[in-house]
Amino acid sequence: MNPSAHPRALLARWGLRPRKRYGQNFLVDPATAQRIARLCVSFCEDGRRARVLEIGAGTGALTLALLETGADLTTIEIDPALIALLRSRDDLRGAEIVQGDALEFDYARWSHGASWSVAGNLPYNVATPLIVGFAEMPNGPESLTVMVQKDVADRLAATPGTAAYGSLSVAVQYALNVERAFTLGPSAFYPPPKVRSAVVRMVRRAKPAVEPRDLALFRKVVRGAFAYRRKTLVNSLALALDMPHAAVARAVAASRLSPELRGERLDLDDFARLADALAEG
Ligand code: SAM
Repeated sequence: MNPSAHPRALLARWGLRPRKRYGQNFLVDPATAQRIARLCVSFCEDGRRARVLEIGAGTGALTLALLETGADLTTIEIDPALIALLRSRDDLRGAEIVQGDALEFDYARWSHGASWSVAGNLPYNVATPLIVGFAEMPNGPESLTVMVQKDVADRLAATPGTAAYGSLSVAVQYALNVERAFTLGPSAFYPPPKVRSAVVRMVRRAKPAVEPRDLALFRKVVRGAFAYRRKTLVNSLALALDMPHAAVARAVAASRLSPELRGERLDLDDFARLADALAEG
């Protein structure tokens, strides 16, 4: 790599240091950025120009790789110091660079109802709320190609009965198909993080995996089932939903589930049947 394009050199030129509070671990290798960018735009191969929203431009490694694919690119960066750096780069002129918090951005207004995708090497402290927000968003992104900590990737892709399976797995898999792409060690970043990272690709399902009658209740049931992981499903739900134990036990029986089960054994169909039974009361 051209040493002057290394994040360390770019930051030093602006008198900056990586900021922990913003989860700043910058990608060092342009080939990795290109690999993520190609994965992101690959679902648009039917001739459409990919409309991409990048979360957290940093010093611009992935921003540049996304622009090089020909994507129509907007990037959101929270750190004002990095905004100045990014806007000074001639090679990033093609991107719309927005200063803001990705947790508060008005995605509906920005997307105008057109289809769009998300890419990013996500800041670790906001990665999960961002992904759940995108999964649950009306008119949300068609796909997400994101770098996250490996344990988050494990939880996103987890299947019932495994230690990593939880409310994050269910909330995301309800709306999106999750595929792991590749993993990277700490040396791929500056500064190196303490843990391994993984790129995950999530593509919106043509329709949700299940169709519970009351989606808000389904979401509450999912969260409630995992709220007390050491308790049985009935006990955890009764506590979390503040419902009589007997009413929950009846709904569990009506859903053809064993009262001794724990939440981590239930798949999406089980959760939908259970939410419907609880809605009937
Ligand atoms: N994409 C760059 C790269 O791969 O080198 C930077 C990745 S770094 C892990 C995450 C970036 O997200 C940082 O630049 C950080 O300042 C930014 N960031 C952190 N929290 C954010 C938020 N809530 N909204 C937007 N950007 C955020």
